[in-house]
Formats: sequence, C-alpha cells, structure tokens
Amino acid sequence: MKHLLSNEASTESHETALMNDASFAELPLSSAMLGNLDRLGYATMTPIQAASLPITLAGSDLIAQAKTGSGKTAAFAIPLLAKIDSTRFDVQALVLCPTRELAEQVTHELRRLARAEDNIKILTLAGGVMMRGQRASLEHGAHIVVGTPGRIMDLLDRGNLELGAVNTLVLDEADRMLDMGFHHDITYVAKRVPTHRQTLLFSATYPEGIAKLAEQFMRRPKRITVEARHDDRKIRQLFFEVQDSDRLMAVATLLNHYRPTSTLAFCNTKARCNDLVEQLSRAGFSAQALHGELEQRDRDQVLVQFANRSCSVLVATDVAARGLDIAHLEAVINVDVTPEPELHVHRIGRTGRADNEGLTLSLASGKEMGRVNRLEDEQGRPVKWADLATLTPASDRPLVPPMATIQIQVERKEKIRAGDVLGALTGAGGIAGDKVGKITIGAFSTYVAVQRDVAKAALKHLGAAKIKGKTVRVRLL
Ligand code: ADP
Ligand code: MG
Repeated sequence: MKHLLSNEASTESHETALMNDASFAELPLSSAMLGNLDRLGYATMTPIQAASLPITLAGSDLIAQAKTGSGKTAAFAIPLLAKIDSTRFDVQALVLCPTRELAEQVTHELRRLARAEDNIKILTLAGGVMMRGQRASLEHGAHIVVGTPGRIMDLLDRGNLELGAVNTLVLDEADRMLDMGFHHDITYVAKRVPTHRQTLLFSATYPEGIAKLAEQFMRRPKRITVEARHDDRKIRQLFFEVQDSDRLMAVATLLNHYRPTSTLAFCNTKARCNDLVEQLSRAGFSAQALHGELEQRDRDQVLVQFANRSCSVLVATDVAARGLDIAHLEAVINVDVTPEPELHVHRIGRTGRADNEGLTLSLASGKEMGRVNRLEDEQGRPVKWADLATLTPASDRPLVPPMATIQIQVERKEKIRAGDVLGALTGAGGIAGDKVGKITIGAFSTYVAVQRDVAKAALKHLGAAKIKGKTVRVRLL
C-alpha cells in the first residue's frame, strides 16, 4: 500500500509517513474506546485509518479515497463518536449513505464501535420504510442519524428532523451518491447543518463531481488517497503485432473477440482518436472521442454516456483522459505504444480496479518494438504476445452497449431531482424501475440511462409525461 497526498490548490497538502501496523493506542482516544477496539479485534489500524485519524481527530475536514473493504466506516466513526455528548438529547452527527442497505451496515458498525460509551442512540432513516415509524423514533431522540439523502431531506421538509446541533457531517460512498443523482439532495441537507461543523467525505473513486461538492461546503479539507499498489497480476496484459495499415481494424477485432462492455482506447494523437472513432462507428460500434478540444458541454455528454454504459468505447489521448475516474472499466486498449513507459503504466492502471480483473490489450507495429522493449525494462519482465489471427468474433451479433441515454432538456438550476425523472419514467404506463440506469443531472441537461430494448418506449413515455408539472423536450442520444 502507498499513501498519496495531493497538493491541489483547493486542499492543503499534508505529509504522512508510511505507517505499518500502526496501533490505535498512538491516537488520543479514550481508554474505553481503546478497550472496545481491542475487544472488536481491531489490533492495528488499516492504512486509511492510519492516514486519516490523526487529521480527523484534530478536527480537520477530510476527503478520503480508498477502495471498498479498507475500513472507512471506523475511519469516520471514531472521530464522530469522540465528539458525541450523550447527556444532550439532540442529533450531533449525520451520516449520509447512498442506499438503505449501506445505511444499515454503517449503523451496525457504528453501534459496535459506540459500545464503549454509555447510551449513544443511533437511528437509521432511509427510504423504502414507512415514514411514520421513523417520525416516532425521532421523537424519542437520537444522537446519530444515518440515512439516505432523499429521506433525510423529506423529514427535514416536514419538520420532523432538526439538525441544528450537528457537529459532524459524513458523506459515505460519495461517488455512489453522486452516481445516483443525489447531488442536489446532499447540498440541500448540508445547508441545514450548522456551518461550524466537521465534514468528512469518503469515496472509492474521485470523479469531478466530488471536487465540486467539496468546494460547495467543505472547509479547507485535507485530502488523502490510499491506493492499493497496483497489482499487475490482476491485469491480464496481451500484446498483438499489427501492420500500421491494419491497426484501426485490429481494434474492432479485439472488441468482437473480447466483447468488453466498457473500453477505454488510448491513442497517442488526437487525429488518431478521430480516425478510430470514425472507423469503429462505420463498423457498427458505439464509440466516442474525448480530446482536449471538446467544449465542457460536449465532454460532459460523452462522459455521461460512457459512464452509464450506453457507449462501448471511449477513445482518448492521455491528456484528455487525465483525471477520468471510471468505476467499471473492463478493458483498456492501447491503440499505439506510448513513447514513455510511465504513461503506459498509467493507462493500464485504469483497469483492474477494486478487485475486478482487468484486461489490457496493446497493439504494436514493427516500428514500435523499441518502445515495447523499454516497457519490458520498466516492468522487469517480458510482455506476453498473442496472435491477432487466432481471435474470432465471440458472437455474430455486433457489440452493442446495454443501455441507451435519453437527454431531457431540464437544467440543474430548475431544481430537478433524480426522483422526478424516475417518477416520470415509471409512472402509469411507463417502464419498469429496474430498466432505469444512472440518472445524471447536469448543469445544462439531465440524462437518464435506460435499457436499450425499452429506449423507444421510454422516450415516448417521457415525451408525453410531465416533470415538475411541465412537459419536457427529450431526445435519444
Ligand atoms: P469500507 O467502508 O472501506 O468498505 P468497512 O468500514 O465496511 O470498509 O470495513 C470492512 C471490514 O473491516 C469490516 O468488517 C470492519 O469491521 C473491518 N475493520 C475495519 N477496521 C478494522 C481494523 N482496524 N482491524 C480489523 N478489522 C477492521
Ligand atoms: Mg463503507
């Protein structure tokens, strides 16, 4: 494991030594808490805990990025619990989670960690459960509330929940909450929490939206990234020799054989990106280019379609792909070999994240063998070659993305919520909820992914439906 601490302008940089087997006893924790951690079998801190707890216990805001299963719950639960005054009867900490299941898991872990203290009341407030029972529980008081943004917002609106005494706000799995279209609800809830509070944001990935959230309501957050050192064994890397004239069609051969749902294809130049998109589109693939010259609006649209799985191949230069953080990338194709071995390592590091096995396919012509040799030196072992001629299409049907994107002409400032779109799509005569994918509320437009087979029906239904009392313009991208 290695720790990366960023030096971004918006965050303060912070030095942390690499800590191995750091003990909780080094932290300023109560002996009751230390005893409880011991009983729970928490002998040493996980890397994210070792990197974040000294910062959070000192009161700083924090943006922490670490993969699933790395112990993030305790990383926020410990500083949060240290500030709870159980003799007071008001909500002092609020944890927002993307789903009810996750909220319940967090509540469970919080209860285990809170056992050291007397009588800390923790309440889960998430959708999918009658509100009446939750209102009754709230009347009995709670010190900590764990919930989903939508339900918390509803309870606030009805005057059932009071957040005026909250001193810790946690956004858990922030990337997933953004994926689910909760940006507005999170902001709404955060505004109802006193500004003099500590805000802790946890996420497995760091998409652009997180920086925006942080800017909106965090105070000089420190940022920590604990990256599992890339395990090369998890990435299946294969090289194929090609003639320059066959290079672009070789990409189609790879796609037809391996059939990845989402592929990031790297080219060394913008011109090559455009050529490849043209060739792939002509061959029936859904491919889009991402290069530095796209306007923000177009860039957003391309990324939305790729992230919601309605575009199979994103073709990018190294520069354009910088800062991209895509959770479910199945394959990376290196259309040409990078002159710098470092860049190659970056490219292949984009696949095989979070325990998924990654697939990296590289094309190289005779002229590029020098570059391949340098790669081999860099990684300290030879690359594996395979023969393109042995690859056969895995199906005679073309590779189509599972989803399609409908663009709705409603902007974020019109206060549209994901629930409005979902409601309009699934309302009387609409499509089933499980056919609806990611909903993205953008600055200029709203996008919803639906399963490709119901795209036409969904478009028709939305065209006739009302969103926030108005009919809306819709089109299929
Ligand atoms: P994340 O939120 O990062 O996905 P969790 O907080 O759910 O991870 O923790 C994953 C598991 O690791 C849980 O079962 C938790 O009890 C356990 N765990 C967390 N911290 C420690 C620790 N310091 N020592 C041992 N187990 C831990
Ligand atoms: Mg978690």
